[in-house]
Amino acid sequence: MLIVQKYGGTSLQDAGRIRAAARRITGLAQQGARVVVVVSAQGDTTDTLIENAVKINRRGSAREMDAYLAAGEQMSAGLVTMAIGAFGYPAVSLTGAQAGIHTDDVHGNARILRVEPDRIQKELAEGKVVVVAGFQGVDQQGDITTLGRGGSDTTAVALAAALGADRCQIYTDVDGVYDRDPRIYPDATRFGRIGYDKMLSLIENGAQVLHDRSVELARDQGISIEVLSAFSGNPGTIVG
Ligand code: ADP
Ligand code: ASP
Ligand code: MG
Repeated sequence: MLIVQKYGGTSLQDAGRIRAAARRITGLAQQGARVVVVVSAQGDTTDTLIENAVKINRRGSAREMDAYLAAGEQMSAGLVTMAIGAFGYPAVSLTGAQAGIHTDDVHGNARILRVEPDRIQKELAEGKVVVVAGFQGVDQQGDITTLGRGGSDTTAVALAAALGADRCQIYTDVDGVYDRDPRIYPDATRFGRIGYDKMLSLIENGAQVLHDRSVELARDQGISIEVLSAFSGNPGTIVG
């Protein structure tokens, strides 16, 4: 069983939440699953980094912005890997480039062109949990790119496709996909299952719970995405 799990920023907000994610990941690995984890930057880190950059240069280069923003996910990957290590399980962190995520050179909104997962496969074969920094890849020149806001979801689906994963789980701060934003509308209804096209039209109408390209990729590759709460243990929503 090969499982890809993605953890969003709120799900990794502080040390306690990182430890909780690491506990779940370690439990799965101890049961014999091979686990690839995709992480976002902690909390509002990406917003803070953007504010910092704008203070320095309102019109900074998109290439430098990507190099800077990608660090948020790399810091998360390091911390989650160390947290898994603290539970006594072997784990390794990889940047997008190390994970073989090749993109075009549209800095700030790069598209994944192909995934070369050999390094991930080698680490899995050595019995490690592999923690990949989401939201980033590398272009043909070897420069760091980012995939657009919310792009870690797309990293997870692309890796699930490339690795032939049995499951692709997106852990977030709500327990699934609702007909409306459950934070704004407490009476919103959760979908047990939702089709790709309906999910895409929800996103078009502002539901940023999943990155649009992650759903397009899942549809094109025939992958089901499970959207789950990192906190509740409730059943969640299956997209696809
Ligand atoms: P993450 O950091 O885990 O990637 P996001 O903030 O990108 O999380 O997405 C989760 C958020 O999406 C929820 O906190 C919720 O407020 C918002 N959201 C908007 N519309 C919906 C919807 N229809 N169903 C579920 N969540 C939604
Ligand atoms: N950290 C990035 C963002 O805030 C990517 C992501 O969370 O998926 O947009
Ligand atoms: Mg998101």
